[in-house]
Amino acid sequence: MTCGALPDSLSANTGRSEYLPDTVLKLKRLWNTSFSNDLDVMLCPTCGAWFEWHDETAWTGSGNGDSETLKRLPPEAWVVLERLLHGDVGDGFAVLEAARTHLSDDLRSRALGRMNDSTFETMLPALVERFITTPYDLENLALYGLLRRVETREPLRARYLALVGASTHPLPARAKYLVELCEAEARKQR
Ligand SMILES: [Zn+2]
Repeated sequence: MTCGALPDSLSANTGRSEYLPDTVLKLKRLWNTSFSNDLDVMLCPTCGAWFEWHDETAWTGSGNGDSETLKRLPPEAWVVLERLLHGDVGDGFAVLEAARTHLSDDLRSRALGRMNDSTFETMLPALVERFITTPYDLENLALYGLLRRVETREPLRARYLALVGASTHPLPARAKYLVELCEAEARKQR
């Protein structure tokens, strides 16, 4: 077993020369990120278990607080991740709800940001509904960053404007601003 010896949660204070065990190097990185302040998902090549990896670099002070953490993800989280990665998202609503329940905020933003355009388009009604109705400001900000993708891609932009136009819910500021950006972009391309 490659990952059998790893506990469910592990962290190393890299600012004080601690390192994660060598076993971690045998896990396969999904997105191949290895940058400071980044996250990745790692897969155990032996049993297929998924892990969430974070690098947390402290930009201030001596850097002694720098750390790396690795967390074993529960099966509910693998299912959502795999469905997002493979574009098997149904109408999008149940998958988005499962992602909100089972993935950390950072991992959810990353996984949603990595969707291809066709998966993104399938997810758009669910994402827009959440964007318009979310009371949680940080989530709304993350959704704004994600939905900026519609601005420069014509079929996605038309779809966003149609979804927002059909909503009976009052539009929050960021949703309105994205409408303005889309309309300005549409004028530019005319
Ligand atoms: Zn394993």
